[in-house]
Formats: sequence, C-alpha cells, structure tokens
Amino acid sequence: MYSTLPDRPLNVAVLGASGAVGQELLLLLQERHFPVAQLKLMASSRSAGTTRQWSGEAITVEEVTAQSFKGVDLVLASAGGSVSRQWREAITASGAVMVDNSSAFRMEPGVPLVVPEVNPKAALEHRGVIANPNCTTILLTLALAPLAAHRALRRVVVSTYQSASGAGARAMEELKGLSRVVLDGGTPVSEVLPHPLAFNLFLHNSPLQPNHYCEEEMKMVNETRKIMDLPDLRFSATCVRVPVLRAHSEAVNIEFNEPFPVEEARHLLEQAAGVELIEDLAANRFPMPIDVTGRDPVAVGRIRQDISDPNALELWLCGDQIRKGAALNAIQIAELLIAS
Ligand code: NAP
Repeated sequence: MYSTLPDRPLNVAVLGASGAVGQELLLLLQERHFPVAQLKLMASSRSAGTTRQWSGEAITVEEVTAQSFKGVDLVLASAGGSVSRQWREAITASGAVMVDNSSAFRMEPGVPLVVPEVNPKAALEHRGVIANPNCTTILLTLALAPLAAHRALRRVVVSTYQSASGAGARAMEELKGLSRVVLDGGTPVSEVLPHPLAFNLFLHNSPLQPNHYCEEEMKMVNETRKIMDLPDLRFSATCVRVPVLRAHSEAVNIEFNEPFPVEEARHLLEQAAGVELIEDLAANRFPMPIDVTGRDPVAVGRIRQDISDPNALELWLCGDQIRKGAALNAIQIAELLIAS
C-alpha cells in the first residue's frame, strides 16, 4: 500500500502530547504552519484532562482509546515503544498514517526509516507506518550522507555525549533538581535515571546486548545501515549520557575507501541541507550544545584529517535531539507525504 496525505488541512493527533517530544511537536506544528484542521492531544490517564496551549487555544489532553483515531489523518506518536505497538493496528485500521518516534518498528522490513535530507523517497513506500530514527542516528546521518555521496564509506566510529532530555521530560527535571542538591552540598539520589547525572556522566544505560554493546549503540549501527542503504557498513559506537540539559554531541571518525581532502569535506558539509558549519579555527571555536538548542540544523565542525589513517576524517557535531532528532524530523516526514 502507498498513500500520501490528503491535500487539505489535516486532522492530526499527537500521541504522547505531554512529553518532551510531544511538546516540541506542538511547537513545530505551529511554527511550520503545518496544515492542521483539528488537533487531538493524547496521553495516558496521568495527563488526561490537563490542557495544553496550541495556536491560541487551550486543548484538553485525552486518554488514548481505540476510538481516539477515528477521522484522524496523521498520528505523530511519541509515547514509547509499547504504546506504539499497542495502538498501531487501531491507527492504521482507521486509515491514518502513523509517524512513530519510538524504536518499535524501525528495523521492521516494510517500515521506512526516514531522514528527509538523506532518504526522502523511502517515506513514499510506507504501508501506514513510518519510523523516525533514533535521535543520535538522525544527527549523524545528516553529516555522513553528503560525504558518502562523494566517496564510499568504509567504517564509522562514533562516541556520543547525550543530554538528559534524550531520556524525556522527567529526566530533564531530575538533572535540574539534582544539580541544585549538589550545589547546596547535598548527596544527589536519582529516581528517573539510573545514576545521578548532576556533575557526573555514565555510559548509556539501555540494556546490554550479548556483544556487550548497549541497545542505544546497536540502534546507531543498525539504523544507520538501514537509512543509508549500506547493510555492510563497518560501524562501532560508544554512547554516554552527560549532564547537558538539551542537545546531543558526537565525535565521529569516518574512514573512506580513499583520501577525502578536508577542504572538500568542509565545502560539502557547508552546502548540505540541515547542516550548519561552526568552525572558527583561529578562535578555536566549534559547535556546542547551546549553539543548537531550540534550533533546526545539526552543527558540524573541527573537520580534520585523521593523523592515524590517510583515508579517514574526524569531525564533531551537535544537534538538538528533541527537535531534529525527533519532532522536527517526524514533521518533515509528514511534509514529504503532503508534497508528493
Ligand atoms: P516523555 O517525556 O517521558 O513523554 C512520554 C509521553 O508518552 C507522555 O506524553 C506520556 O503521557 C505518554 N505516555 C506514557 N505512557 C503512555 C500510555 N500508556 N498511553 C498513552 N500515553 C502514554 O518521553 P519523550 O522523551 O517525549 O519520548 C517519547 C518517545 O520518543 C520515546 O519512544 C522516545 O524513545 C522517543 N524519542 C525521544 C527523544 C528525546 O530526545 N527525548 C528523541 C527521539 C525519540 P503522560 O503524561 O500521561 O505520562
């Protein structure tokens, strides 16, 4: 099955509307003048009955039920994998297209995994569900794709520096609260994240896999291969949670089949859609999370020749993962279906 979205204002539902990604979705639907006829906000019983402001009106959050999707054209889902799995059938049976932020369907054959600047055509092959990739993967592929279009990729090694917001709205609040505890001389005790993040960092706590990589690291490996259609790409990742409130960073080593002149790579990244170059070598000034917080582009800089390998480049990137790593990417996917 293949379907675009109807060429009229759409009935849109945000599932997970009270969460970190859900709130950003609301902001972006308004900011991008997405053609909304009616907006439904859905969450669990915890938030049902509360209101959220959208486009000058207060909309009440509803508890999601099987009837919730009747008459809905587009569901932007950001309530976690089990919720997406639970409601997938009801959503697609109602005729709505589901753009899903969770990892539930990303690796499922037949479900496109889309970064609009990288593989936009894949979105049009959907059968009712399109998956939004993992946030770190979206940010990374924006920098890899313009380079991969000019020299074949051989191997990617990445270390991530992931902010609290990647773990949701409650993790952000916990980082703020525990930072105050530490500054006041107290002992921070975490309840949302597995360890106190204030003035600390720890390896990403997603479940360890049999190969001793964590799930987040293997998501980066598998999802990058799927998005870029490079099933054999050699790839290794180390994911770390750092005490930054919002926006992820990544140190990336990219090996090609042949040397890639730094100047050419810099020029390609400067021109690439969704990428901004922040690179002032004289001032020793490169991307920081605060440069991209609340902004669309992924900032790339410190592009340099790897001194240990003539065929490899090193670079650094930062991106707002709630925005481009989740909400913005999801809305751009929906826009692809309208434009086609
Ligand atoms: P969050 O801040 O914890 O928000 C979760 C949302 O899901 C809330 O609106 C919550 O509603 C709702 N929810 C939870 N259980 C539900 C249920 N049983 N039925 C209906 N709604 C339910 O999490 P988030 O950071 O926005 O992440 C949401 C999803 O996006 C996750 O799958 C996450 O992996 C993915 N994602 C997150 C990021 C990020 O940077 N944060 C990036 C990419 C992808 P209540 O208020 O009622 O609890």
